[in-house]
Amino acid sequence: RPNKRIAVVTGGNKGIGFEVCRQLARDGGVTVVLTARDETRGAGAAEKLRPLGVTDVVFHQLDITDASSIATLVDFLEARFGKLDILVNNAGVGGVEYPQELDANDEKFAGLDSNQRLEWMVKNVREPIDAARKAVETNYYGTKHVIQALLPLLLQSSSQGRIVNVSSEYGLLRLIRNEEVRRDLNDIHNLTEERLDEVLDKFLQDFEADALEAHGWPTGFSAYKVAMAATNAYTRILARRHPTLRVNCAHPGYVKTDMSMGSGVLTPEEGARGVVKVALLLDGGPTGKYFTKGEEASF
Ligand code: NDP
Repeated sequence: RPNKRIAVVTGGNKGIGFEVCRQLARDGGVTVVLTARDETRGAGAAEKLRPLGVTDVVFHQLDITDASSIATLVDFLEARFGKLDILVNNAGVGGVEYPQELDANDEKFAGLDSNQRLEWMVKNVREPIDAARKAVETNYYGTKHVIQALLPLLLQSSSQGRIVNVSSEYGLLRLIRNEEVRRDLNDIHNLTEERLDEVLDKFLQDFEADALEAHGWPTGFSAYKVAMAATNAYTRILARRHPTLRVNCAHPGYVKTDMSMGSGVLTPEEGARGVVKVALLLDGGPTGKYFTKGEEASF
């Protein structure tokens, strides 16, 4: 087994994930497996790192919603490294349909500041049920399935295997007005994965029945918010179940990427910093916690 730590980053081809790969390899002294669902985009991203002096990066395909893609990654990691030290679950989708003409570099955004861009985005995105389902499938279930598949390798780490779920302040419990759901998601001593499944099923039913408002679900990027709240809750379940691991959530801040249509206030480099900080916390550090821009905060 290699002495150097091995990290897997999902959605590493662009945005925050790409920067997490770069910083982990450059500053963390870590061998990074940059993964992406698209071979060309992923391999291209790994190539882009070489002229930046970041050489200890290998690319491997991973679509977090595809069971066979996850299994192929596990086989690769087992054969190549026999362990995993750090898993950064960064891949995610917005749960909305962005306007066709969306291009963050478009001239019409040139004079707009971050708030004005966000306003434009909120006004122009649509939230069809398919996009909502996709957010739940990707941001919660995809992340969970990757974790489940990589857990045995993380338990082989000679330090405390680390899982960082890139989360969002959109997943904070206070955004959920439904008291029963909010209470259950926060009741980590009794919360189960089955209850999380029920919560997500109910959310999608209410979404389809146009009953989000009536049942106290968040609105505006609703599926993204609920999926992130579920991921945060799952993080806490995992931390309790695996006390030898360090399992945390990291909100990167509001970052200029394709997902935010370039409307953030931080650069991807700045956003990634907080995520990397949590990934590199020392053994014996916090677990089951939520961090915002690298600082511990409440769920
Ligand atoms: P981007 O849209 O720039 O990047 C998202 C990444 O996720 C891309 O690499 C994308 O791949 C990948 N991805 C999407 N679906 C899958 C899938 N099924 N399998 C594998 N990879 C997938 O967004 P950001 O960099 O902004 O987002 C990164 C993370 O940060 C997300 O989890 C997001 O929720 C979170 N976040 C972002 C904030 C922000 O302000 N930007 C704020 C809070 C949290 P592809 O290129 O193929 O689409």
